[in-house]
Amino acid sequence: MFNGYMTLEDVDVTAKRVFVRTDYNVPLDEHGNIVDDTRIRETIPTINYLLDRNAKIILASHLGRPKGKRDPKYSLFPVAKRLERLLGREVKFLPDCIGPAVEEAVFSMKEGDIILLENLRFHPGEEKNDPEFAKALAKLAEIYVIDAFGTCHRKHASVYGIKDFIQPVVMGFLLERELKYFEKALVNPQRPVVAFIGGAKVSSKLGVIKHLLDKVDKIFIGGAMAFTFIKAQGYDVGSSLVEEDMFDEALSIIDKAKKKGVKFYLPVDFICGQAISEQTPVIEVAWQEIPKGWMGLDIGHASVILIREILKDAQTIVWNGPMGVFEIDKFKMGTFELAHAIAESPALSIAGGGDTDYAIHKAGVVDKISYISTGGGAFLELLEGKQLPCLEAITKVK
Ligand code: AMP
Repeated sequence: MFNGYMTLEDVDVTAKRVFVRTDYNVPLDEHGNIVDDTRIRETIPTINYLLDRNAKIILASHLGRPKGKRDPKYSLFPVAKRLERLLGREVKFLPDCIGPAVEEAVFSMKEGDIILLENLRFHPGEEKNDPEFAKALAKLAEIYVIDAFGTCHRKHASVYGIKDFIQPVVMGFLLERELKYFEKALVNPQRPVVAFIGGAKVSSKLGVIKHLLDKVDKIFIGGAMAFTFIKAQGYDVGSSLVEEDMFDEALSIIDKAKKKGVKFYLPVDFICGQAISEQTPVIEVAWQEIPKGWMGLDIGHASVILIREILKDAQTIVWNGPMGVFEIDKFKMGTFELAHAIAESPALSIAGGGDTDYAIHKAGVVDKISYISTGGGAFLELLEGKQLPCLEAITKVK
């Protein structure tokens, strides 16, 4: 049980048909090869637990955005092959996820068999949360497990509507682990809690920043967002990216931080270029000195020293979003140095979001971050203080 919700350990799965909704939405290259299998590996504890109990395991997921139509580009077949390699046993792949042929295959499963169904989003009913589609999925199983953290912020049939057609619906180990770490970081944290938020736009992180002000002791805003906060206060930022329509929001955030006693930090210097390109000349200047025609594209070395100071007494660290245009070598230093500074801290650290995850891997510090979330959008919704819709689908313990 976790927070009143049923987990895998609350049900007897022995020899039962167990449907596991995973999030195998993995990145593929142009040849259809899996570039990063983290999301597959992270579901192995759930699968192994079921195998130990001789369950009949039916795995399902979406991949990409096939828009409700069958599209071979988004087939989960490569995932079945990777799973076979990781588990060292056969994973039978079915070319659909509902219908008579699928039912026949599922109802003739033996104990310990594993089936992976084809992409749920090949049917429009998945994203439309169509009850008929949910019902067809529910028909396949005796127990339903949601382990697709990365999809848990969506009201789709397989993670939401399903609850009306099968009980119990329980949490898998991956979903449980995500929520547990989130709680450790922001619900019952050891203080001080320090948040680092980066990325391009204040508008897309507004909810996150506002909510974090109620939770954290210190917040550092990096990435292009910093310029909106600087310019909102009346200072010049050269040609750096700003969102003028966010000035009032930015000022009210600074004000709220002040009232709440949250220490609010912005970078103190920037690495600037004349264009977002590898070829641009660069200069490194204090924030007050960004010349006309130049844009801040990364935080500077003084800001990195500041970050290390901020982290000195941290007990808990939350990180989302890059500090600069880290996709370009000239502007990746700040993001990578932040990854290293967090990795070197003994504090509990959680990080999430596609870019953040990528930067942590590239910096080679994966093992030194306490928890890296597998969900971008779902992680941000938790940071915003929203309840994940999938929790409404999970059976409550009486
Ligand atoms: P987000 O999706 O909001 O987390 O934003 C991530 C994007 O922000 C990355 O693609 C970065 O290249 C971009 N970014 C970060 N810092 C800057 C900056 N100073 N100027 C322009 N883009 C930036």
